[in-house]
Formats: sequence, structure tokens, C-alpha cells
Amino acid sequence: MAEQKRDYYEVLGVEKNADDAAIKKAYRALAKKYHPDVNPGDAEAEKKFKEASEAYAVLSDPEKRRQYDQFGHSAFDGGFGGAGGFDFSGADFGDIFGDIFGDLFGTGRSRSRSNGPMKGANLRTSVRISFEEAVFGCKKEIELNVKETCKTCNGSGARPGTSPETCSKCGGKGQVVFTQQSFFGTVRNVQTCPDCQGTGKVIREKCPDCHGTGYIPMKKRYSVDIPAGIDNGQSTRMPGLGEPGVNGGPRGDVLIEVIVGRHPIFQRQDFDIYSTVPVSFAVAALGGEILIDTVDGKVIYDVKPGTQTDTRVRLRGKGVPSWRNRDVRGDHYVTLVVQVPDRLKPEAKELLRQFDEITGDSLNAAKNAASADSGDKEKDAKDNKKKKFWK
Ligand SMILES: [Zn+2]
Ligand SMILES: [Zn+2]
Repeated sequence: MAEQKRDYYEVLGVEKNADDAAIKKAYRALAKKYHPDVNPGDAEAEKKFKEASEAYAVLSDPEKRRQYDQFGHSAFDGGFGGAGGFDFSGADFGDIFGDIFGDLFGTGRSRSRSNGPMKGANLRTSVRISFEEAVFGCKKEIELNVKETCKTCNGSGARPGTSPETCSKCGGKGQVVFTQQSFFGTVRNVQTCPDCQGTGKVIREKCPDCHGTGYIPMKKRYSVDIPAGIDNGQSTRMPGLGEPGVNGGPRGDVLIEVIVGRHPIFQRQDFDIYSTVPVSFAVAALGGEILIDTVDGKVIYDVKPGTQTDTRVRLRGKGVPSWRNRDVRGDHYVTLVVQVPDRLKPEAKELLRQFDEITGDSLNAAKNAASADSGDKEKDAKDNKKKKFWK
């Protein structure tokens, strides 16, 4: 059975009704005390740090805190990261760690580095694609500046025939620890070893080809599969093609952000597509077939008699495929806009007058209503109107 989880408020040592500032203050103090960089190799401290971070991630987020207050730890069973993992996304640790490291090391961002294997950094790039390419997916060529392992030294950075030596300053650990007396007591400071920059090794004779870095920068072209359904600003990932890892760690990934071009008639909202289509007055009144452009081509739509302008119709499954399952597609919503004819030929005008006469005589409605009233009243009304106008 899993270990009993401690109450988050208890972990941070705050009251149930503690405000955000109190929670932040409590976490800050704990993080400072138990941060792994301050307690290298101390498993108990690391556990405490993780416990406090999890508590803070929940209690600093109003929505998660509300759920926790209501359901306790079961609020996040399964939903958060699954087996053993905890989803810290959404929690804002940035400024807190900025504070902590600022206090401990005197600078804002001096994260110390150990010499264990570390995954390389991710490379980011972007690619422009069309609306249809985003809907149906596509292949795109990208060019990246990548670091390839130097063949001369096999990535060691040392001149062939020599090898890197263990750093004497840090004994190969990559970190140096020094203690400092401060107002709050003794602080153990951990810093990246200045002699080996955290690698634990120093190169006496550098490889002539890569100048000791172990890598040769070069431009490389890749073909990227952009998945169907991707939206503007989303990224697709090519794992293992990013920056090389450190000390035998895996390469980072390449993240390709897509910039989707505008379409002249289609707009997109998540997986649905929107457009407007003009409908003639005759079709709107009598009903009839119209052609509608969709991302799958033209479709014939049967307009019902008596359709009003701005009627919205749904074309099921003509939207964007979901990138989880491309068989599941959104819908296409079409707004039918009834067109009022301008520039009519004289015959058409005459027919429209006749049409009006037999459908209620709207052209003469105002005149007829006015003449039904007495002459005096009519005059008064006119005078009143004038007065109103000039006031
Ligand atoms: Zn080399
Ligand atoms: Zn060193």
C-alpha cells in the first residue's frame, strides 16, 4: 500500500485559512532548507523538498486548493500525472526559486550543476503552413543548427591519443561546496566547479577539430511530419534531435511550432470551421440547392424554403480532425447570408413591385396608414415631427 500522504497544510505548517502570502512564505522557507542543491545526496531532504513542492503546487493554485479542501488527496487520484508522478504545471515556482537562489548564491539564476547524466536542451524552431496543411497534416523541411559529435575525438574533446583527466579541484564531482557563516547560521553553498564547469573532467590537450567541445556545429535538414489537426501556435516534437546531453545524457528534443496562415473564407475555432455563404433572395424564399466550399471540396446543400438571413447550418464532420484520432472530426458551421439585390433591371423592378403588391403592399404601407388619418391630425403629426427634429 502506498505511504500515507501528509496533509498539505501540515506539510507547509500553515493554518487551513492561510492566505496566499503565508503559503508562499512557508514554502519558501522549506524550499530553502531542503532544496537538493543545498543538501546534495541527502535523500530525506529531497523527499521533504518534493513533499513541500507538491503541497505548494496545490495550495498556491486557487482551483486545486478548492478541490483539495473539498476532497482531500483523492481530488488528484489518477488525474495528476498518474503513477508516482505529480503534475506541477500551472504552479508558479519561478519567482520563488529566483528568490531562493538569489539569497543563497547572490545572483538570480546560478543553478548549480552536478556531473550526472543530463538530457540536452531542446531546440526550438517554427514553420509556416497553410490552413489546409494544418487541417490535414503535411511534411515540411526544416533546417537546424545542430551539434554533431566530433569524429576526431569521439566527443571527448581531448586530442586523439590523450583523454580528459579527473578535475582536481572538485575531485570529479563537478560541484564545489563551501560553508558560509551568515546571520541565519551556517549555509552550505554548492556551486558548479569553476575549473571544469561541472563536467568533473578537465582537458589538458584539446582536440584540434572541435577545440575541446566534443561537438562540431553544422546545419542539418530534416523532414518533419506535421500532424493533422494542429493549430496555430502549437508545436510538434522530434525527440532526440536537440542539443547533446551532458555526461552521457540523452539529446534534447526539437520542438517545431507551427504558424498557420489565414484562409480567405474559413475561420477555425479548435476543431470547428466557420464560414459565411451568400444565398439569393429567391433561394432563401423558395428553397433550393446551393454549393458550399468545405475543406473537403464543394458540397451541395438544400436550403429550406423561408430561410432567414444569418441562419446557421451545421455540416457534420466537415471540420478539423482531432490530432488524437484523425477519424474524429469537428464540424463546419455555415452562416447563410441572404443577399438583397441592388442594380435591378427595369423589368425586374417592375416584377418586384407586382410581387410586393400581392404580398402585403409594403411599398405603400406608410402612405396608406397616413391617409387613413384625418387631414388635421396629419398636419399636427407633421408639425410635431418638425419640432422634434429641430430641438
Ligand atoms: Zn574533437
Ligand atoms: Zn571540477
